[in-house]
Amino acid sequence: MFWRLLRFFLLQAAGAALGYGLWPLELPWQGAVLGSVLAGTVWALIDLRRGMRLLHWLRQGEVAQLPELPGLWGEAGTRARTLLRERDQQLANSETRLAEFLSAIQTSPNGVVLLDAQGRIEWCNRTAAEHFGFDPQRDLGQHIGNLLRDPDFAAYQAAHDYSHAVVIPGPRSTVSRPVRLSVDLHAHGDGRRLLLSRDVTALEQAETMRRDFVANVSHEIRTPLTVLGGFVETLQTLPLKPQEQQRYLALMAQQAQRMHLLVSDLLTLSRLEGSPPPPLEEWHAVRELLDDCEREARALSELVAVPAHEIEFRCDRATELAGASSELLSAMSNLVSNAVRYTPAGGRIDVLWRTLADGQAEFSVQDTGPGIAPEHLPRLTERFYRVDRSRARETGGTGLGLAIVKHVAQRHGAELKIESTPGRGSRFAIRFPAVRLRPTAT
Ligand code: ADP
Repeated sequence: MFWRLLRFFLLQAAGAALGYGLWPLELPWQGAVLGSVLAGTVWALIDLRRGMRLLHWLRQGEVAQLPELPGLWGEAGTRARTLLRERDQQLANSETRLAEFLSAIQTSPNGVVLLDAQGRIEWCNRTAAEHFGFDPQRDLGQHIGNLLRDPDFAAYQAAHDYSHAVVIPGPRSTVSRPVRLSVDLHAHGDGRRLLLSRDVTALEQAETMRRDFVANVSHEIRTPLTVLGGFVETLQTLPLKPQEQQRYLALMAQQAQRMHLLVSDLLTLSRLEGSPPPPLEEWHAVRELLDDCEREARALSELVAVPAHEIEFRCDRATELAGASSELLSAMSNLVSNAVRYTPAGGRIDVLWRTLADGQAEFSVQDTGPGIAPEHLPRLTERFYRVDRSRARETGGTGLGLAIVKHVAQRHGAELKIESTPGRGSRFAIRFPAVRLRPTAT
């Protein structure tokens, strides 16, 4: 500042001296004043031009092209440029942070929608767009109530009580493929709201399955228990003859056996769900598994059918199978025992192990039983699903056999295939992958 003032006064003094020396009249001080005013004006014009150049630069906002200015204006320009650069850097940092933040929210498995104070969409992530069928660009600024027209959501929004979520059907929900969304609002800022959505379809289905399962198990246990209770009461209250007593006791033993089977199948299922995957390095001779199955099948057939069934077991090649032997035996014998139980006396049952051209192998059980109508086939492996409830009760089934078979097959990377023609018989096959097979060493 000192140098700037000094330069100003020196210029004026020089102007005054020049005016004083060059003035033609006899009052040279007039020349000095004029010279000083002229010098001051020139100084002011130069200064103004520099100021204008700096202002022009500031208006253009091109930080890199700072004009070269001496003195005060130069320093002001440099400082302004430093400040602008810092601001630009801060802006860039904030933008990067915002972009990172938004991209993190984009990857969220939950839907996120930012609403302004009027309930208009300010931003939404891909999941929310998918959940609600929004267009993340076109629908910005739209009122949420215009796009989400579910009455439950409208009531929830109007009540302004956001302490709980509301479950609504997704816009693409159909009867065959229901989609259920849990939606909740959170107030923040001055009247703004955050809308979160979560796909709870699988959760609701699991909950329904759990409820159905408990209801089914209770029902399955209650029936034999009621029968047992009835017999106990009869035995306690009526003076029965010894033969009658024996008959009742035999029926009671039958019901107890039914409950025993049910509990043991339930335990098998829960073990399958909770145990680690079957090992790939534990090998079992298929022949031995088939022999065990055959023994059980013949014993069961003699028990339930007169005349017994015509049963044949064949194995095309000595093979070993990797997995959990108890599970494999349980799956195989479930299929064989179903064939025995559902095929009328004297019918034929063919059990075959064969290696396929692509290296896979198939365990199949073919019977000449009643067969199953096509509409039942997709549901056979559901827990407690039975084609004919009364018949299944007669044959002593728990309704869990095929669910166990499917579970075991899946755990071993195998596939359960069911083919059946009503009146002509059924064929159940488990197809094992090549990785779990090897020829028996000779
Ligand atoms: P269950 O213990 O009742 O036999 P499963 O899960 O083993 O239960 O079988 C489910 C239903 O599939 C059975 O109730 C029966 O109706 C039908 N089913 C299974 N195997 C056969 C078969 N070999 N022939 C005819 N129907 C069968």
